[in-house]
Amino acid sequence: ASEAEEKDLVIIGGGVAGYVAAIKAGQSGLKVACIEKRGALGGTCLNVGCIPSKSLLNNSHLYHQILHDTKHRGIEVGEVKINLQAMMQAKDTSVAGLTKGVEFLFKKNNVEYIKGTGAFQDEHTIAVNLIDGGETTVRGKNILIATGSEATPFPGLTIDEKKVITSTGAIAMTEVPKKMVVIGGGIIGLEMGSVWSRLGSEVTVVEFLGQIGGPGMDAEVAKQTQKILAKQGMKFKLNTKVTKGDMEGETVTINTEAAKGGKEETLDADVVLCAIGRRPYTNGLGLENIGLETDDRGRLIIDQEYRTKIQHIRAIGDVTFGPMLAHKAEEEAVAAIEYLTKGYGHVNYGAIPSVMYTHPEVAWVGQSEEELKSAGVKYKVGSFPFSANSRAKTNLDTLGFVKMLSDAETDRILGIHIVGPNAGEMIAEGVLAIEYGASSEDIARTSHAHPTLSEAFKEAAMATYDKAIHY
Ligand code: FAD
Ligand code: NAD
Repeated sequence: ASEAEEKDLVIIGGGVAGYVAAIKAGQSGLKVACIEKRGALGGTCLNVGCIPSKSLLNNSHLYHQILHDTKHRGIEVGEVKINLQAMMQAKDTSVAGLTKGVEFLFKKNNVEYIKGTGAFQDEHTIAVNLIDGGETTVRGKNILIATGSEATPFPGLTIDEKKVITSTGAIAMTEVPKKMVVIGGGIIGLEMGSVWSRLGSEVTVVEFLGQIGGPGMDAEVAKQTQKILAKQGMKFKLNTKVTKGDMEGETVTINTEAAKGGKEETLDADVVLCAIGRRPYTNGLGLENIGLETDDRGRLIIDQEYRTKIQHIRAIGDVTFGPMLAHKAEEEAVAAIEYLTKGYGHVNYGAIPSVMYTHPEVAWVGQSEEELKSAGVKYKVGSFPFSANSRAKTNLDTLGFVKMLSDAETDRILGIHIVGPNAGEMIAEGVLAIEYGASSEDIARTSHAHPTLSEAFKEAAMATYDKAIHY
């Protein structure tokens, strides 16, 4: 970038929010530059989040299945062992392919990729500390902040990403720890806990609340999921808060206490994973130079068009409000560019799915029973177990159920909650239903191929407005 040149749009951060916005802006004919400090595009999601964690989840599941779930299928295997280095390499290959793919898309869509750390000099000028040395400035008529989030540290525990780790350490361990304690039974704790438990670690999850799954998971689903994960070998301590952690030689000692006061306990571990949530990341961004402030949780404050109080500066993704999910960031990226180029955009925050990629998977969209109850909404419930679905039975993969919640009066679908095989793909049908304002009867009267897992979805809909056939 040269100092003289002014872009239509400068994006700070090349994560899912930033890179999607950059491509969309390029496609819309804007002169756009995207500044990324990591040395690779794709942000947390591609480099240290969604993609590497799913690679390890997939391959550790395969290993676990070969060990425990093939004999009764008529497949007998010889010696099975893990080559952790090769498993990590497979993950790295997937990550590298995808991040390079984004770089290619930047070229294709005329996005200038600036490798460095950006900071506001003034409301239109970003100073960039280049990765390869030196500095430059880039000016933008418009600026989009997409700097993402970072793991919330646990007070008193120093993260070294070896013994005391965040998810970033959890996707890069060089050996399987004998004992692992996970602080926080949310999505990261359960996904990464699953990976290492399958690979042989003794995993204990300590969760402050009375249920696992983090915010938004339906209580009945959370309970069932906990049972299934416990059967797979994970241990849970709910209603328990971690008060302190200490390193003693090779061992990390964790002190816990019953959440409502009282019973204290000490847990020893070779590795402790801190997974108590993530917080917006704006360090070193120079917000003070332009008078932009964040709220008490570090989030940039924006209006419905993603504008900060400085109208030409917008913010999207993890750095602002809403669930910290890649597909939410992606929706906002497209909408923000549409607001910029056309004056209108659209994200339906009531129809953003959540998926936890354990086995079985957990997926939901819309409201949980608890949310409907506390809002005083009258609703109907229909559910259908995978143990009554022909394909799940054929596949010997029958744990879980589909639960549908619809308005008691209008039958409009208000929430769908699935724990079961392929839940993450199946929820797309639920998202579409909510997006189009479908009733449970609409789904029940729609033909679903036989024999498929999605028939469980249809039968849950039948059970919501009438009766299921097979249960
Ligand atoms: P980020 O991806 O964090 O990107 C921000 C980028 O900005 C970073 O690359 C950073 O280096 C860069 N940056 C920051 N400051 C500057 C600066 N001053 N100058 C230049 N560059 C800067 N979500 C899902 O939907 N599905 C999943 O399966 C899933 N799995 C996850 C697993 C893990 C272990 C983690 C940690 C997260 C996961 N997430 C998942 C969440 C998902 O990764 C985030 O919601 C998503 O990455 C948010 O995108 P973003 O672009 O807002 O932020
Ligand atoms: P989370 O908010 O999902 O869960 C954190 C959990 O830690 C909560 O259940 C909370 O009650 C608990 N907790 C907090 N303090 C505690 C303490 N002192 N002791 C015990 N428990 C405590 O956060 P996360 O799992 O760290 O994930 C961070 C973000 O990343 C989430 O927004 C999530 O959506 C996103 N993510 C998504 C996926 C996915 O979509 N599959 C995967 C990984 C991460």
